Amino acid sequence: MAKPKCLLVLYKGHEHAKQESRLVGCLENELGLQPNSTVDKELEEAEIVITTPFFPAYITRERIAKAKNLKICITAGVGSDHVDLNAANERKITVVEVTGSNVVSVAEHVVMTMLVLVRNFVPAHEQAVKGGWDIAGVAKDTYDLEDKVVATVGCGRIGYRVLERLVPFNPKKLLYYDYQDLPKQAVDKINQVSKIYNDNDDIIERVEDLKTMLSKADVVTINCPLHESSRGLFNKELISHMKDGAWLVNTARGAICVDKDVAEAVNSGKLKGYGGDVWPVQPAPDDAPWRSFQNPFSKGGNAMTPHVSGTSLDAQTRYAKGVENILKSFFEKTNDYRPEDIIVINGDYSTKAYGRNPKFWSKIRIV
Ligand code: NAD
Repeated sequence: MAKPKCLLVLYKGHEHAKQESRLVGCLENELGLQPNSTVDKELEEAEIVITTPFFPAYITRERIAKAKNLKICITAGVGSDHVDLNAANERKITVVEVTGSNVVSVAEHVVMTMLVLVRNFVPAHEQAVKGGWDIAGVAKDTYDLEDKVVATVGCGRIGYRVLERLVPFNPKKLLYYDYQDLPKQAVDKINQVSKIYNDNDDIIERVEDLKTMLSKADVVTINCPLHESSRGLFNKELISHMKDGAWLVNTARGAICVDKDVAEAVNSGKLKGYGGDVWPVQPAPDDAPWRSFQNPFSKGGNAMTPHVSGTSLDAQTRYAKGVENILKSFFEKTNDYRPEDIIVINGDYSTKAYGRNPKFWSKIRIV
């Protein structure tokens, strides 16, 4: 029997790959799996494609049409929007990811980014390394996270973990916008911890109208998948409903925001800052608008990084193991994937997270 061909697409590790063998998410260390190929040349024959969201190979409708043997797309991480899921469904290609593998890593990055923005860290750091001691120039735009209203768009695994981690900062309110309620135990847990830390036991609240939530929030974080109804969601019009001087953090997917509108909002001072690690197209071009925006008041407000939040070494260990398990199920033909890992299978969506599909509303969410 002919061996199935597997195509693995990763980012380059350069000298870092030699320095750290646990950097398995890069090309040189190959998730420990050792394939060796390039996308368009090899995809035509491949049965399996493994990509990371950090340096994605976009598995477009056109590429799927050419990939006659393709049976399964595996995301080494979370977020499979780089695969054309509708086209995959039409061809009955399975799309699976390693759900949960890096949600803690991302939640930590979100909290860090909020602090970087609210504390006006970047201009202060630049003084420290480039020379200067202008305390007022930084302090005039530095705040505490305490007593701020923080809101998340999407409150699944990452969104919930962000809210959980914020409780010790004693925010005024934690708001969430999602298609469904959090489980009662999840709400109770946050309220109980808040009561212990802050003597405030009614801190978390679901808001059913997005614009209403945005109009109340000092800090907004985006934690929903990229799909038809979230693409371009944060455009000039929606941003106009945010509080003047709010901060926006997006580690979900760059294309949920209109890059020029976000850059203009910070450059004009409508938003105090924007930060995150995801870009509309990755790798981002050198002249991408998100590389250069700054708020006019303190020249801060840019907390962008390349797509690194979900690829800590701890996360890499988890998603490499998850990919191994998925491959095992595929090769042994058991197809007993973890249900939460399956995005599309047998020509249909298997997840409630991609789109407002009523079919999934009644399903119990695992936080
Ligand atoms: P999840 O499925 O646990 O949660 C997503 C939540 O978003 C669900 O509760 C869903 O109902 C909700 N949702 C979907 N569309 C929405 C919309 N338009 N408005 C409001 N809520 C909506 O997923 P997760 O593990 O929390 O991950 C969320 C997303 O974060 C992923 O899809 C991925 O795009 C991104 N992510 C990024 C990184 C990174 O490295 N930056 C890593 C992991 C995940």
